[in-house]
Amino acid sequence: MGKGTIASRLVAEDDRLSLSRSWTTRAPRAGEHGDEYVFVTREAFEAAIDDGFFLEWAQFQGNLYGTPRPDPHVVRDVLLEIEVQGAEQVRREHPDAAIFLVLAPSMEQLEQRLRGRGDGDEHVQRRLASTPSELARGRALADYVIINDDLERATRQILSILEGLRRSPRTPSTKETTHG
Ligand code: 5GP
Repeated sequence: MGKGTIASRLVAEDDRLSLSRSWTTRAPRAGEHGDEYVFVTREAFEAAIDDGFFLEWAQFQGNLYGTPRPDPHVVRDVLLEIEVQGAEQVRREHPDAAIFLVLAPSMEQLEQRLRGRGDGDEHVQRRLASTPSELARGRALADYVIINDDLERATRQILSILEGLRRSPRTPSTKETTHG
């Protein structure tokens, strides 16, 4: 869902969170002004991979996306909004990371959201076709599954889970599904 609404809401409402700014080789969409991502060429991205610049990176729908390694001096919790392959890498490097799978309430709603932001037919069809296998991997990986049927509630739920985690950090067996 891109650097979406939930992530922006979370950082706006929780001043202990800092949103990571990803690099991508995809072109900016209409309406994106350049602060959503660092938009780079494939050459620049590949050079950064070779330099060990990324905490994780993945190819998604033909484009590369990656999270710069966070500045070790940042004291806030770092929020990544990323797809499943990247989250799997984060899990390997940071077993204590809290991973949330945020789901559209239905495939119909997912389709509407993709179309609503102006994605073309072919892109929407490719995204929808790849969703079932991503879902299976995401469910296997995630500590919390959030159904995004109400943005405000989904945001609140994540914030309250984060509160709880700060009080008592995650144990590996925790897995919950929550309707937002
Ligand atoms: P979009 O092109 O719609 O902005 O993003 C496509 C997918 O890439 C989304 O699922 C988004 O969460 C994911 N994504 C965005 N940034 C990163 C990143 O840095 N790493 C990974 N692995 N995925 C990302």
